[in-house]
Amino acid sequence: MSTNNNSVRTHRCGSVGESMVGLEVKVAGWAAKIRDLGGVVFVNLRDRYGNVQVVFEDGEPLELAKSFKLESVLGITGTVRPRPDDMVNPDMATGAIEIVATKVEILNTCLPLPFQIDQAEDASEELRLKHRYLHLRHPVMARNLKIRHLASMAARRYLSDQDFLEVETPLLIKTTPEGARDYVVPSRIHHGQFYALPQSPQLYKQMLMAGGVDRYFQLARCLRDEDLRKDRQPEHTQIDLEMSFVTEEEVYSIIEEMVSAIFTETLGIDLPTPFLRISYDDAMNLYGSDKPDLRFGSPMHTLDDIVPDCGFSVFESTIKKGGTVRCLNATRLASWSRKQVDELEEFVKTRGAFGLARLKVTENGFETGIAKFLGDDFQLALKERTGCSEGDLLLFIAGDWKMAVEAMGALRLEIAAKADWIPADSWALAWVRNFPLFEKDEKSGAWTACHHMFTQPRPEDLDGLEEDPGKGRAQLYDLVCNGVELGSGSIRIHQRELQERVFRIVGMEPDEYLEKFGFFLDALGFGAPPHGGIALGLDRLVMLLTKSPSLREVIAFPKTNLAASPLDRSPGHISDDQLEELCLKVVPRPKPETADQKEVESE
Ligand code: ASP
Repeated sequence: MSTNNNSVRTHRCGSVGESMVGLEVKVAGWAAKIRDLGGVVFVNLRDRYGNVQVVFEDGEPLELAKSFKLESVLGITGTVRPRPDDMVNPDMATGAIEIVATKVEILNTCLPLPFQIDQAEDASEELRLKHRYLHLRHPVMARNLKIRHLASMAARRYLSDQDFLEVETPLLIKTTPEGARDYVVPSRIHHGQFYALPQSPQLYKQMLMAGGVDRYFQLARCLRDEDLRKDRQPEHTQIDLEMSFVTEEEVYSIIEEMVSAIFTETLGIDLPTPFLRISYDDAMNLYGSDKPDLRFGSPMHTLDDIVPDCGFSVFESTIKKGGTVRCLNATRLASWSRKQVDELEEFVKTRGAFGLARLKVTENGFETGIAKFLGDDFQLALKERTGCSEGDLLLFIAGDWKMAVEAMGALRLEIAAKADWIPADSWALAWVRNFPLFEKDEKSGAWTACHHMFTQPRPEDLDGLEEDPGKGRAQLYDLVCNGVELGSGSIRIHQRELQERVFRIVGMEPDEYLEKFGFFLDALGFGAPPHGGIALGLDRLVMLLTKSPSLREVIAFPKTNLAASPLDRSPGHISDDQLEELCLKVVPRPKPETADQKEVESE
């Protein structure tokens, strides 16, 4: 820290140490704790870098100290001295010393606090967000912001070293769909017209490739007006990048090195690379999720080939109807009580399962649950398939494929949490790839892109894509970490004709796609190179790195789950003058229909 005689401080609170005993220092910060013992006042002074104990024992400093309020801002001049032996605090970085104040300036006072900073977790979320600047003084929040900064800087440094250019793309745009609604901004100059705020820089980064930029990145703000869900933020930040003339493997290796650099610079951890690669089909069939948590094993087993004559009619008829039977070996859990397993059954029923069949593996073979129905051959095959041994609990779900694998996947996570299967401080990063290109919207029956419409199909799937879009596979990949999707990317379509085909498959007529994306199709048509990229969610990554319980803990000024800010009270009304200038009128929202009315109409 560079200082001169006029500096408010010569040292940061956290950096005053034993080597400075006898020296005069100036420190400044917030009164985090005040202990008034009558003839002496102790203040724990806090700044971003740490805390230091200041003692006020006589004269004007002591008099002033009597009037200190918690969280008032103090400038202290004093002498560093060792603490008496019985007052040394080994848990505090500056716990061996204290500063005896010789001069004090109250730089600002503080109103009565709505919550104590060191007990912020007891205050309601609403109150903490309303006074966010107070919560940000908490050492955990200061650490979170620092880790976020280190992660951003590590990404920037690594990408810049690899010849990526940081380019800002516009915020006021037409639209870039990522599956959510757009936030829109009315134009004053173009009467009746609106900009959209970007859901991602997708189209712009692709047009940068058409512009020969070759390697682009940006810490991009993405704005999505999503349906309300727990722990969603209307704006989030992505480490967004795009590269020309690349293969999937080249994107993986750039990201593996970048993510490794982030882990090293934030946590000092060396991640093993390359990360695991797993196909979408395997992820679903083994873990029931396209973002499998691979910190522990216990994949589920399919029994479809061995159940047809197993003796248990529910399994047999499921297979006849084209369904599947899945089994999870809950190792060492045969001792779980009936009540515990009944609770698991309730859990899978909320995910569409009809029930949860069970078997205990004992010294006498399979017991309880469905044991009495099962033929000897099946029992042998089951043992071999699951590798079970005495003390294990086997759990089964039968039904249609999607329900069965997803319910079993959720059950695997539930048991892992309850039975402590997940090793502490472990990191499991993996690429999930070979996703389907399109999925059918269950309600409308229309095809939609699994990721987004700009993803390149596998070359071998191009013929006949229109006939059976569900068969096509995409050059699409997700990065998952500890069961959380960190980001998605793909090799993109770079030829206009193919892009138009995909627009048509997802149900757009030429009129519509030309109006929405004509400018982008032109860019492809004027010699866009083959390219691909990815975007990683910075907020999610920092949430994992800091082991924070919510995204709100790693964003300086987040919104609530209702997309509102208790701090500045946005969103809010605008003035009549502003409305008039924009030629806008706010009309009252029509009353929602009552449930009864809806029922009548649908009959
Ligand atoms: N634009 C994509 C997204 O926001 C990421 C990508 O494909 O690069 O999910």
